[in-house]
Amino acid sequence: MTDIIIIGAGTAGLSATIYARRAGREALILEALSYGGQIVNTPEVENYPGIKHISGFDFATGLYEQATELGAKIVFAKATGITVNPDGSKTVHTASEDYNCKAVIIATGAKNRPLGLDREEELTGSGVSYCATCDGAFYKKQPVAVNGGGNTAVEDAAFLANYCSKVYVIHRRDSFRADEAEVAKLKAKDNVEFVLNSTITRLIGEDELEGVEVTDKISGESKILEVSGLFVAIGQMPDNNSFSSVVKLDEKGYITAGEDCLTETEGIFTAGDCRTKSVRQLTTAAADGAVAALAASAYCG
Ligand code: NAP
Repeated sequence: MTDIIIIGAGTAGLSATIYARRAGREALILEALSYGGQIVNTPEVENYPGIKHISGFDFATGLYEQATELGAKIVFAKATGITVNPDGSKTVHTASEDYNCKAVIIATGAKNRPLGLDREEELTGSGVSYCATCDGAFYKKQPVAVNGGGNTAVEDAAFLANYCSKVYVIHRRDSFRADEAEVAKLKAKDNVEFVLNSTITRLIGEDELEGVEVTDKISGESKILEVSGLFVAIGQMPDNNSFSSVVKLDEKGYITAGEDCLTETEGIFTAGDCRTKSVRQLTTAAADGAVAALAASAYCG
C-alpha cells in the first residue's frame, strides 16, 4: 500500500511528486511513455518565472531528477483504470499489475490532436510529425510547413527556421493564440512565410510527404506548397476515458475540477492539463501539482 500514486510524469505529475515526497509521503509514479510530458517537445522555454531560458528537455530532466532523487519510485506502465475499494483505498490498474494506495493524483496531461486528413497516419514518420524538436533535424535545408497558431506552432516554426530552407506557417485564422512576443520574433525571420486564413485540405506524396494542399477559407482557392515535412501543432486532447467511472469528464473529456484539484471522488485528485482550466501553461501545471499533492497528503492522514 503506497500513500499516493501519481498517474503521469509530466510537469504536473512530477511537481506533485516533489511536493508529496517533501510532505513525507510515499509516492509512486505510473507513466505510460517517458518522463517529461509535452514540454519535452518544446525547444525553448522562456516564460517560466525564475528561469530565463531553458530547453523543454532540460526542464523536464531537472524535474525528473528532483522527483526521483527525493525517493519517488517510477513504473513505466499505462494506468488503465482506478477502483475505489470498500475501505476507501484505491487500486490503480495497469495491463500487467495492480497497485494499491490511499490517494491518487491523475496528471495525464494531453496528447497531440491530429488533423484528421486522409493518409495522415500512414505518412506519420514519413514527412508528417507532431514534434519539431524530435524530427526537425531530418529536414535540414529543406522546405517544411507548420500548422497551428498557438505557442507550440509558433515556437516550433522559429526552431525549424534556424535550419530549414523555408518554413510555411499555416493557420486557420489571421491572428494568433500564441504570445505576441513569440509571434513578433517569428515575423522577423526572413525564411518564414505565413499562410493565414487557410487550412490543409490534402496531403500529397506516395511513400513520403511531398507537399500539402492548402485552401484559403475566404477565397476558397487552393494551392500546393511543396514541402518535405509537415509539423502538426494544432493543440492537444485529453486522454482520461479510462477514469470516467471514478471522475466526471466534461464534454471534451477533461476531468472536471477547480483550482483545488479535487474530483468528485474523495481521495482522487487531478492536476495539470488533463483537468478543466482556462490557462494551460508550465506554471499552472506545476502549481496544480503542488496543490493536488498537499491535498492528497492531507487526505492520507
Ligand atoms: P493551442 O494553444 O490550443 O493552439 C492550437 C492552435 O491550433 C490554435 O491556433 C487553433 O486555432 C489551431 N487549431 C485547433 N484545431 C485545429 C484544426 N482542427 N485545424 C487547424 N487548426 C486548428 O495549442 P498549443 O499551441 O499546443 O498550446 C497548448 C498549451 O500549451 C497552451 O496553453 C500554450 O500556451 C501552452 N504552451 C506553452 C509553451 C511555453 O510556455 N513555452 C509552449 C508551447 C505550448 P484557433 O486559434 O483558431 O483556435
